[in-house]
Amino acid sequence: MSAPSITPRSAVANSVWPRLEPLLPQVAKPIQYVGGELGAVVKDWDTAAVRWALMYPDAYEVGLPNQGVQILYEVLNEQPDVLAERTYAVWPDLERLMRAHQVPQFTIDAHRPVRDFDVFGVSFATELGYTNLLTAIDLAGIPLLAADRGDADPVVVAGGHAAFNPEPIAAFVDAAVLGDGEEAVLEITTIVREWKAEGSPGGRDELLLRLARTESVYVPRFYDVDYLPDGRIQRVVPNRPDVPFRVHKRTTMDLDAWPYPKKPLVPLAETVHERYAVEIFRGCTRGCRFCQAGMITRPVRERSITTVGQMVREGLEFSGFHEVGLLSLSSADHSEIGDMCSGLAQQYEGTNVSLSLPSTRVDAFNIDLAQELARNGRRTGLTFAPEGGSERIRKVINKMVSKEDLIRTVVTAYTNGWRQVKLYFMCGLPTETDEDVLEIAEMAHEVIRAGRAATGSRDIRCTVSIGGFVPKPHTPFQWAAMAPPDVIDNRLRLLKQAVNADRSLGRAIGFRYHDGEPSLIEGLLSRGDRRVSAVIRRVWENGGRFDGWSEHFSYQRWVEAAAEVLPDFGVDLDWYTTRERDELEVLPWDHLDSGLDKDWLWQDWQDALGEYEQDDCRWTPCFDCGVCPAMDTEIQIGPTGRKLLPLTPVNGLRVPSGAQQ
Ligand code: SF4
Repeated sequence: MSAPSITPRSAVANSVWPRLEPLLPQVAKPIQYVGGELGAVVKDWDTAAVRWALMYPDAYEVGLPNQGVQILYEVLNEQPDVLAERTYAVWPDLERLMRAHQVPQFTIDAHRPVRDFDVFGVSFATELGYTNLLTAIDLAGIPLLAADRGDADPVVVAGGHAAFNPEPIAAFVDAAVLGDGEEAVLEITTIVREWKAEGSPGGRDELLLRLARTESVYVPRFYDVDYLPDGRIQRVVPNRPDVPFRVHKRTTMDLDAWPYPKKPLVPLAETVHERYAVEIFRGCTRGCRFCQAGMITRPVRERSITTVGQMVREGLEFSGFHEVGLLSLSSADHSEIGDMCSGLAQQYEGTNVSLSLPSTRVDAFNIDLAQELARNGRRTGLTFAPEGGSERIRKVINKMVSKEDLIRTVVTAYTNGWRQVKLYFMCGLPTETDEDVLEIAEMAHEVIRAGRAATGSRDIRCTVSIGGFVPKPHTPFQWAAMAPPDVIDNRLRLLKQAVNADRSLGRAIGFRYHDGEPSLIEGLLSRGDRRVSAVIRRVWENGGRFDGWSEHFSYQRWVEAAAEVLPDFGVDLDWYTTRERDELEVLPWDHLDSGLDKDWLWQDWQDALGEYEQDDCRWTPCFDCGVCPAMDTEIQIGPTGRKLLPLTPVNGLRVPSGAQQ
């Protein structure tokens, strides 16, 4: 294991540490603000030509494991003249103290003020992090509105999935990057480096213009939005002659050329995942109509089995982690997943390394893989995601799995020794009725009944977990109306009653759900336009923080802010959420190009309403979703036929044979 690269705090000239340290004994979990983790990097400030502060806008425990930030942190710090440090959302207890003692938002690597950096990059996995963005900008001493910033302020850049519609935060960010970040951050770095080396000609405006001209960095200030009298958007047009009408997403091809993270961060404080995660492929073409991640990351690009093997070996060696997650949107679909799982299981058999695969595919193959990975005696939980309760609604969402398949699969899990499985569903899906949701209870009952019959044991359980559906931009459901929270809550109440109607079966079924209110606000933020910025600001001014956390989220605060702000624009919360859009409506993100053809998306929406399914283009001919020609990309899948290197014992240690000299 290599030693972390740590510069003594006293040696960091612009560090806020001397002012921060006395505050830490007064806050919860102070260790999260200390930095210095294995994998952390502190570079010399003065010799860096370009300096990035990278943020995941949530608490350290959620933000540190974020793969996107870890990858960009490493990619940037590998550049000799580039410096990247991390910052996370501070909890309200520290925020209060920082305001009282004038301590600005700081990076946890060298505790430098975020305002001193050239670029402040924020990666959003969910829109519920928007209020935390405002806290960080404000604590940093950066003007809240992009329009008020000057040449001394960093360029605030949004990335991550939420950046595919950054309009609700357009007032607060200077730019947004759509798609994969590895190459995009280097391109932005080159532009900033050159602009600085030339003496920053034209100031901030010129820098933003150079970024916009790449056609893959969206600079909201260079676009005007006109509205129709009824509140809909009439058009979005560039207000400068030399910026593109549409901004395109970035796609990193050849994942083998980007084997990051190589040096994963090992947290000092407790975090939600403590494991080495390897992304085994990117993109998904299964075509689940609710899934924004699947739609915006097309096409599928696999990482080869040998690169995955090498990353696992080196990542574990560096970090000392005992757990490896083989991640992707549908990991069992990797063309060499069988060989990958058996090869890794064989390599690490008899060690304390456990391997896991997010298990959502509903078939016996998934259980075979889980069995393989459980060779070390540790069985991770099995989760299956039928998503919809009835066959009909599963056709609407394009999740092709029958009730019989599901029951057969879960029973196979029970007979293979699993005692507990989790079933994941959504509530509030387009065209959904009470009956669709009540079928979840029937399914859960049958699972327990069949499981007991097959195993002869009453010691089996299943947990039904329900999430609220949120229609997302760049999906076929981007036109759909959301169900109001009271409808969702009533359906969930009926479902709970139905699950418990048979007490003997109900006792074996756990029930977890989110009520409809946070989903509705996520819906507002996902499909909102620039007018929603005012709602976010009002919520933040009224104390909104950490909206992704149920104990901090206040529905009332959002409803009141929307009621105060939106009538000035002639719209309201329902207009953004429970209103179905028609084909010709200009959507706030139409000028942001995910590669998906809007006509294809509309047709897929019509197919959803007609309950028609769509196959996966990995195994059937291309169905012209538009991505490959628009982005000049292609599906990259194996099998490559390559195998993982076998392990050979050396002096009592087990190392891959290829690693021996
Ligand atoms: S363009 Fe064709 S091959 Fe490419 S992702 Fe879309 S459907 Fe699949």
